[in-house]
Parts: sequence; C-alpha cells; structure tokens
Amino acid sequence: MAYEIALIPGDGIGEEVLTAVRPLVDDLAASAGFGLDYTDLDWGSERYLAEGAMMPEDGIETLRSHDAILLGAVGHPDVPDHVTLHGLMLPIRKRLNQQVCKRPATLLEGVESPLRGYGGGDVDLVVFRENTEGEYADVGGREHRGFDHEVAVQSAVYTREGTETVVRAAFEAAADREGYLTNVTKSNAQAHGMVFWDDVVREVSEDYPGVDVERLLVDAAAMDFVRRPEEFDVVVASNLFGDVLTDLGAIVTGSLGLAPSANLALDGDAPSMFEPVHGSAPDIAGEGIANPLATVRSVAMLLDHLGESAAGTRLEDAVADQLADPDAPRTPDLGGDAGTDAVVAALRERL
Ligand code: ATP
Repeated sequence: MAYEIALIPGDGIGEEVLTAVRPLVDDLAASAGFGLDYTDLDWGSERYLAEGAMMPEDGIETLRSHDAILLGAVGHPDVPDHVTLHGLMLPIRKRLNQQVCKRPATLLEGVESPLRGYGGGDVDLVVFRENTEGEYADVGGREHRGFDHEVAVQSAVYTREGTETVVRAAFEAAADREGYLTNVTKSNAQAHGMVFWDDVVREVSEDYPGVDVERLLVDAAAMDFVRRPEEFDVVVASNLFGDVLTDLGAIVTGSLGLAPSANLALDGDAPSMFEPVHGSAPDIAGEGIANPLATVRSVAMLLDHLGESAAGTRLEDAVADQLADPDAPRTPDLGGDAGTDAVVAALRERL
C-alpha cells in the first residue's frame, strides 16, 4: 500500500527541513509496512522570480489527485509576502476547501517555556482556525492610487457553512478532550460578522451539552495565552485571530520550530495539507540550524490523517522522548547548538 503525497518544500528553511526529514519518514513508513510516493513540486518564490507565478495554472488540479500535501514554508525576502501568500498557500487552502486549520500547542517535557514557572505538560491546547474566509477573504480593492484621496477597502466574509464547519470541528475535539471550548472573537467592535459567529457557536453548542463554552475577546485571549495558558483546552477562532494566536501558542510552548499544523478538507475527497506553523525564516535560512521538529510533527499529523495512526503516534512519541532527553541534540531556538541534520539523525536512531 502506498499513499500519493504532493511535496512542496517551498522556500527558505521550508526546503531545508523537508529535505532533512524525508528519509526519516520513508524509513518509518517502510518499517510500518506502507509506502509514500511523492510528487516533487518545485513551487514557490524561486519559481515566481523565474517564471512569474508561484505555481502552474493547473497546480490545484495536480494536487487534487493526491492523498495529502506536505508543505515546507513559503516566503522570500525579494518577493512581497502578499504575493507569496496569494500565489500559493491561500489558493490551495481555498480551492481545496481546507476549511479547518488545526494547530496543537503542547509544552513538552524538556522544553523551556519563556513563561516563568511552566514545565512539561503544563500547557496542552489546540486551536481550530477558520481557514478559507473571514478576514483573509479576497474581497476589497484600492482606488485613486497615488492621490491624497486614495482609499483601500478590505472586507471580511463569514458564511454560515464555513463558520459552522470549523465550530463543529472544534466542538467535536472538545467533546473528545476536556469538554472545554473557548470561542475567541471581537464581537464588541465587529458587530456584524463576529456577532454572527457567536450566534453560530451558540447554535452548535446545543448539540454538545457536555462542552462548557467560554467567550473571550481576542485582546483578552492574547493576554490569557500568556497569563493562564494552562486553562485552555480547545480554542476556536477566525482566520486572522487564529493565525495570530497560534504564533503566540507556539512560542509559549517553546518555539515556532516545534509547532505543527493541519489544513483539513473535511468535506469531499480533496487532499488535506500539512505544514509547520512557521514561515521560511529568512533570518536563519541557509545556516542549517532550523528546527526540523515542527515539520516532523506535521508529518505525524499527516500519517494520523491517512489512517496510519500507529506510525504517527510513534513519530510523535519519538519527538517527545528526544526533547525530554537532556543529552539529545537540539537546535539554537531550543537553547542548543546542534544543526538540523544532527537533530534528524538522532531522531532516526531513536525510531
Ligand atoms: P515568513 O515571511 O516566511 O513568514 P517570518 O520570518 O515572517 O517568515 P517565521 O519564518 O515564522 O516568520 O519566523 C519567525 C521567527 O521564528 C524567526 O526569527 C525565525 O528564525 C524563527 N523560526 C521560525 N521557524 C523556526 C525553526 N523551524 N527553527 C528555528 N527558528 C525558527
């Protein structure tokens, strides 16, 4: 049995970590009795600089025939961020209807949090981020460019179907976990879209009487991710708020270099996409010191999604063991001095 995986290493450290991690994943798959057949896709900023587009015109159709997509990172100092985002990541999420972005943030044993007094196991939360609309909807425009009366309009879009899909996924997760869901909005200031969002949460909550719902405005949520992260279990938020809170969740639990994510296409048979939360990290790209573990953990989520849960759990457990081992190599973001390859080699040995 072999799964078809679309592999998009992308830019900067995305390419570095995927190149390093791939042989380890192949070994794991082989020992678990399944194969991974990759389609290597050189999409990203280098392609944009050479050919004027981040991916080919039929890129989405190419992805559709795969079982899953594994992405490194996208971003380049010479290409504006809105070009890279709108040229690759957003079209994939939107056109494959990956409506739910799931981002766990767990403080693992042996990892130091920047928060005083927090140790392994103290933080264990998961954010469900709406992934195809909200504040990232491509609705708006600019007029009168260059004049004093230049104007820019950017509208957020919340559909009942899109909102309910992510909210229901979050309630399902909360029911399986501690039965505690935090709904993050800014419905005091955004009285249309976000009050609608709150209404949907209220309606869906009636199907989950065992789940307690807390409502937080996003400014308070940002503060509480630092002040009392241990109290969160499942968090549901819009596209923009989920994006911001998950960088915060990643750093509170040690490093962006540890944070995995899944862009889930729950409806239909389009592939889901797995990628680390971090970007291309131009400040360290090319130095060989990027932490590969966010990507490894994203692969664990991918394997779980494919139904290869035993292999996914083995991988996730090996990462946890390695981080708990004070003698194991670690990259500088975790206070060590090891490179990407040394961390992957140690993990491969451990597996
Ligand atoms: P992009 O424009 O591609 O999003 P960015 O610099 O805005 O890039 P990130 O790539 O997420 O955002 O990086 C934010 C910070 O976290 C940088 O200082 C980067 O070096 C650090 N960082 C991100 N990922 C890792 C990693 N895997 N290992 C070590 N440090 C990382």
